[in-house]
Amino acid sequence: MRKQVQEYFEDYAPKYDEKYSKMGLATKSIHSGQTPDLTFGAVNVPIYASSTYVQPEAGTPLGKWVYTRLGNPTRNALERCIAALEGGKYTVVFPSGMAAITSTLQLLNPGDEIISINDLYGGTHTNFREFATHKNNLKFTFFDFKDLTKFKPLLNEKVKMVYVESATNPSLTVVDVPEVVKITKEFNKDILVVVDNTFLSPYNFRPLEYGVDICIESCTKYINGHSDVVMGCATVKDENLYQKINNAEIFLGSTSSAFDSYLCLRGIRTLSLRVEQHNQNGLAVAEFLEKHPKVEKVFYPGLESSPFHEVAKKLYKGYGGVVTFVMKGGLEECKKFLGKLKVFHCAVSLGSVESLAEHPALMTHSVVPPEIRKELGIDDGLIRLSVGIENKEDILEDLKQALE
Ligand SMILES: *Cc1c(COP(=O)(O)O)cnc(C)c1O
Repeated sequence: MRKQVQEYFEDYAPKYDEKYSKMGLATKSIHSGQTPDLTFGAVNVPIYASSTYVQPEAGTPLGKWVYTRLGNPTRNALERCIAALEGGKYTVVFPSGMAAITSTLQLLNPGDEIISINDLYGGTHTNFREFATHKNNLKFTFFDFKDLTKFKPLLNEKVKMVYVESATNPSLTVVDVPEVVKITKEFNKDILVVVDNTFLSPYNFRPLEYGVDICIESCTKYINGHSDVVMGCATVKDENLYQKINNAEIFLGSTSSAFDSYLCLRGIRTLSLRVEQHNQNGLAVAEFLEKHPKVEKVFYPGLESSPFHEVAKKLYKGYGGVVTFVMKGGLEECKKFLGKLKVFHCAVSLGSVESLAEHPALMTHSVVPPEIRKELGIDDGLIRLSVGIENKEDILEDLKQALE
């Protein structure tokens, strides 16, 4: 019995789940890491709601598990599944995307320098400028990553990390990630390249396949996809990096619950279907808005008119559900438009099955000082849509009536 249990726990160890490694993404999302339960044969990984685990002989736990902050079978199943989807080996999940980012910064020492994209997610912006700068004494250089000939001169021997978002928020600037990796690693292969891939999800883009060291996602968005969980993750290929990030999780106490892990695992099984539909609906909305007389400008890398279309086409499978646009008439017109939507809810967040609309200057980016907002092109007429997976006709009809 013990031997059988030990073998079973081997299968649950936090190592790469190789069984499905040659298979497609939809198969991985349904099977990777999700070994049927030994006790009752449950096909779904149960919610292991136990903070501690029995040790038949003192000092020798029955299997791998000791205490849930150190590791939990449900959380571990999710970690192995995400690792497989990202094309990585090890994932650490966190109780939020922000916790994943904060724990990744623990790889650095006070005084280290980071070159970061300037057009950051609002929460990351505050994390970097307030906490990491003043409490951890990290030094940031913010750069737009558009003209990469200007990137190389920024590298110096104090730079230990390059941090970008694969597609930024809300302006949907697409970073040529392979080129950033190439320039960075040519200068010094030890500089860590970190990509926040939240806007793409592993269905559309997998940074680790291009030599990126750490791929971060807010699982709150596409990975879970149902607006009922806040979670994040960091995925790597290197075991040493994994140990360090895992220790930051365990000893700084950023551990996610078994319940949230279960919900996220449930959401992840339909990732391929969902994101494929987000891609189709997103493109249809962008094309519709581009032709509308009340719309001044549309930002969507899937549009041929986008300055980022070529890079995005080269790297991405699809362009996702986030579409940003500028309305003629500014703030007042935007408020009227948001008030008239019926299918879209006016709310922050993105990447979930339901369509959402928001006003960055008043909502997601209100914490960003006005002068920096201006620099980033977040003006008062800007609206960000997260196009969901409802019927395309209903989504387009809703936008049409609200614009009129
Ligand atoms: C939402 C988001 C985050 C933060 O994730 P939480 O789960 O809200 O903590 C980080 N980066 C990007 C790009 C996001 O959209």
